[in-house]
Amino acid sequence: MRRPKEPFDRRGAGRGLFKTPSGCHLRLMQPLRLFFENCCRTFRDAALTLVYPPSCTGCGGATADAHALCPACWTRLTLIEQPYCSRLGTPFSVDLGVGPLISPRAIAEPPAFERARAVAVYDEVARRMVHRLKYEDRLDLAAVMARMMETAGTELVTEADCVVPVPLHRLRLWRRRFNQAALLAKAIAGHKGRSYDPGCLERVKATRSQVGLSRPARAANLQGAFRVPEAAKARLQGRRVLLVDDVSTTGATANAAARALLRGGAKAVDVLTFAVVAAENS
Ligand SMILES: [Zn+2]
Repeated sequence: MRRPKEPFDRRGAGRGLFKTPSGCHLRLMQPLRLFFENCCRTFRDAALTLVYPPSCTGCGGATADAHALCPACWTRLTLIEQPYCSRLGTPFSVDLGVGPLISPRAIAEPPAFERARAVAVYDEVARRMVHRLKYEDRLDLAAVMARMMETAGTELVTEADCVVPVPLHRLRLWRRRFNQAALLAKAIAGHKGRSYDPGCLERVKATRSQVGLSRPARAANLQGAFRVPEAAKARLQGRRVLLVDDVSTTGATANAAARALLRGGAKAVDVLTFAVVAAENS
């Protein structure tokens, strides 16, 4: 009886030199590859240090380590910790007891998304960090902000089937050259081995700035703003989406985007932002 063809060269395997059909010695290639990758990483870090000398991600003052906050900014950053609303992720000023708590706002106007989480309250330090990422082209900050977001939304990231950024309209993307939400979403997906799928959602309406608009006006402004492209509907079916943005002001944008994703076939949508406006303390 004819033996099935050997998948690899047994003589090589016997000596620990596993040969692929192309003849590459993987045992030898692996350290070379790692060495090359380390060299690239060191070179990239050195280049980044030249371009961006170590500075505080909040105030821009000198720091010993790159991508760190200085002690003054750390103490002023209002990290969101328990107790917070289990739906909106907004902090409560007083601890109302044990168990999952839901804010009056989440009860009065239940959001389309299931859970929202954020790293910090959108106050001075968080605002500066977002501003530096968004308008000062400090794209290197995306990695450190994404790490903080992963910690704040561990559960959401772990349970997500795919990570989707809140998209910009193509005109705004052309003007700004990059979407800060996409940088954050891509970093989170990459670190945590989740699928990054920006093609699941598009912004089809160039909405005017939400600044200064009332809550109903914000919702009206976003009416019909988002859409799941036809081509993405099949792969979105039954998936739990983690929607990522830099800031959530009233939750109107996240809500409109979540509604579009659910209409497009998503099973559930969670929202992860770097900062959340908690002025009303819901
Ligand atoms: Zn600082």
